Amino acid sequence: MNNCMLCGQTLFGRRDKKFCNDFCRNTYNNHLNKENVEVIRITNNKLKKNHKILKNLVELSKLSVTRTELELLGFDFNLVTSFDLSDGVVYRKVYDYVIQQNADNSMIIKQIT
Ligand SMILES: [Zn+2]
Repeated sequence: MNNCMLCGQTLFGRRDKKFCNDFCRNTYNNHLNKENVEVIRITNNKLKKNHKILKNLVELSKLSVTRTELELLGFDFNLVTSFDLSDGVVYRKVYDYVIQQNADNSMIIKQIT
């Protein structure tokens, strides 16, 4: 026997039933969507911030940076749109920008055209 995922009431009928009525189903799903929207919004904002930091640096022709400099500007290294490792060189992309981290840990920012 299952219980309603929202109110916990015992459910009768179909074995795959998850909610006792439409109200419980809709309330549950709306709540889930709100939480997902919030998580996506926060992640998107962090990615946007990373993108803006790289864009500003390229516009200032400051293409050579250190990890510390980027971190001080608020760059979040956990949030990139792709990550590649090739011959000891790390490539972190944030949309149309790439940070190339060389074997000596020096970093170069490039805009992908
Ligand atoms: Zn219910």
